[in-house]
Amino acid sequence: MRSAVENGQFELHFQPIVDLATGKASRAEALIRWNHPKHGMISPAEFIPLAEETGLIVGIGDWVFREAGFQAKRWCDLFGTGIQVSVNMSPIQFQSNALNISDWLDYLKTLELDAKHLSIEITEGLLLNASDDVKEKLLRFRDAGIQVAIDDFGVGYSALSYLKRFDIDYLKIDQSFIQNLETDQNDLVLSEAIVIMAHRLGLNVIAEGVETQAQRQLLLEIGCDYGQGYLFSRPLSVIAFEDFLTKTLEPD
Ligand code: C2E
Ligand code: MG
Ligand code: MG
Ligand code: MG
Repeated sequence: MRSAVENGQFELHFQPIVDLATGKASRAEALIRWNHPKHGMISPAEFIPLAEETGLIVGIGDWVFREAGFQAKRWCDLFGTGIQVSVNMSPIQFQSNALNISDWLDYLKTLELDAKHLSIEITEGLLLNASDDVKEKLLRFRDAGIQVAIDDFGVGYSALSYLKRFDIDYLKIDQSFIQNLETDQNDLVLSEAIVIMAHRLGLNVIAEGVETQAQRQLLLEIGCDYGQGYLFSRPLSVIAFEDFLTKTLEPD
């Protein structure tokens, strides 16, 4: 893993995030894969925990941010209005002194990419006992125009008070709530409660793991803003994602 970045073994795939009302993809989540010469494609669920334990996540995360920015710029040029690409960030990156947000922002300037085309996804755990330092780093992203989403919302600690203390833009409802939306009344009630709360707080909501048309319909009915999941598309390679955009986005 130590040499995988230099050897070009990591790849980003992109999963469209669709506006539930219009069906248009206005965003995408960048998801890392490790294309290992011997073991083939390795999923992040397998290697991210190890990357976190060893601290290698800081270098990998640096590569992810830059690669996502590079692609976002390409899609602005190719597709006019462009889309917002979200990048997953590990709490370990926030704890590290090696996280250099100024370097990242300089890189975006070099690319001539408006920061609104990038967002970051963090988890509830990061905010639960967030130090002033974490708080300050989050503010730097937002001040630069990079939006912040809370990933896997609802399965973590859900100490909701952090929603008052931090400026957040999106809640991503964890896929475990969406899975049984059609059959489990509790999941539907909880999802609706999340949407109502988020909207009252001025946040947008993305449902993760949308796999069926019935789930999409229910999400639309409870006022959820965006959906992400196999119903719309699996995570796609750069080429396949551009193909997807060509078919679904009207160029300017
Ligand atoms: P996540 O950020 O919650 O990403 C969503 C995961 O759900 C992705 O798994 C995606 O492929 C999967 N998914 C999307 N739609 C559906 C669906 O309709 N049904 C089902 N069953 N699954 C769906 P993936 O790509 O294996 O990533 C797993 C996790 O690894 C991510 O969860 C994220 O926490 C982490 N991860 C991925 N890329 C990065 C990265 O660049 N940096 C860091 N720190 N973590 C990453
Ligand atoms: Mg995510
Ligand atoms: Mg998630
Ligand atoms: Mg997850």
